[in-house]
Amino acid sequence: MKKRAQKVRSNGNKTNAKKMNNDVEDADYDEKELSTNTDKSETRFLDTKQQEPFPKTRMFLIAIVVLLIVLLFVLSVILFGLTVRAKEKLSRMSYNSSSIIPTLQQYTKEIVSYTPRYPGYPGGIATQKMIARIFSQSENWNLEYDTFFETAPILGRLNFTNVIASYNGESKRSNSRNKKTLVIAAHYDSKYQKTPNAFQGATDSAVPCAMMLQMAAAFESMLDSYNNIPNYDLKFIFFDGEEAVKEWVGNDNTYGSRHLASLWEKQNKLSSIDLFVLLDLIGTKDVQFPNFDIHRTITNSEGYKRYEQLENIEMKLKSQNSLKTTKRYFNGVTDNGQISDDHMHFSVRGVPVLHLISYPFPKVWHTPNDNYEALDWDSIHDIQTILIDFLRAHMFNK
Ligand SMILES: [Zn+2]
Repeated sequence: MKKRAQKVRSNGNKTNAKKMNNDVEDADYDEKELSTNTDKSETRFLDTKQQEPFPKTRMFLIAIVVLLIVLLFVLSVILFGLTVRAKEKLSRMSYNSSSIIPTLQQYTKEIVSYTPRYPGYPGGIATQKMIARIFSQSENWNLEYDTFFETAPILGRLNFTNVIASYNGESKRSNSRNKKTLVIAAHYDSKYQKTPNAFQGATDSAVPCAMMLQMAAAFESMLDSYNNIPNYDLKFIFFDGEEAVKEWVGNDNTYGSRHLASLWEKQNKLSSIDLFVLLDLIGTKDVQFPNFDIHRTITNSEGYKRYEQLENIEMKLKSQNSLKTTKRYFNGVTDNGQISDDHMHFSVRGVPVLHLISYPFPKVWHTPNDNYEALDWDSIHDIQTILIDFLRAHMFNK
């Protein structure tokens, strides 16, 4: 926010100055009248009388011009400030809590329209461009691309690209030695199929990507509402190449997250991650998120605490009638198993993770039925509402 320039309080002083000028003029006049007694100075007196007031009038005019310039400057500063503010308002991502479903539908439709979203293929590149287009509406985000080549079974050498959107504003922790970042992530690639258009991957993970795009806009509206700086830095990561091309063994999976976790480890960027939230397989009616063991490993007590926070937020929103369904999505069921996914390359390096994946997997998982028609928008609305409230609590203590 720009400081508004203070109005120039000059009226009273201006009157006094004018009065003083008049007094001086009167004094001058008296002095000159005395000199009329001298004959030889008659002519000189007349000349002087005509010339003397002129510089004073000129001084007065100059003062007025200077005053006008100052006023114009003050006005232009105010106008410039208003223009910048208006521009800032226009360059925000748009978010309206009452239009959660239509916006998510619009984003999801666009993402599934790019099927197949294989790494480096036209659909994958179109999805990257869509993500960039939406974040570019706002000046609050920096976009980075982690792009690399790797050879996969069947498809051969592929060009993978992780897209990372980072909030570029100040946070309470950004300048401290304990700089901390909340990461929210999902993958945007779709699974390879022999019949390429048969698998849209609507829950896997077009919907989670759409949710992240909307969460970014919701975060921006929170910045406005609380007129506050957030507690943490914030990053949204859209991973490429999560899906196995042939079979989920060895390195034929999680290409993008493996590359980025390794890169950030070398760049010493992992220790600043406060919490890494991974969204996957969200969109059908049968979604439920267990509290996995990986949420409470030696290096990760944060994930477990945050899962409990999500349970509490869900209960609170239900009691406020803010949710459309009566189901519990965060049902507190503990699960000793671990599901391999993009989070694992971060958790093995000591990053606290929260794996929000539906388990058991949705019935449509890895079938041609994982398409737009399989989606249950009331469930998606409720999960998104819970996650946005979680984001608010984490980032603003609200
Ligand atoms: Zn999948």
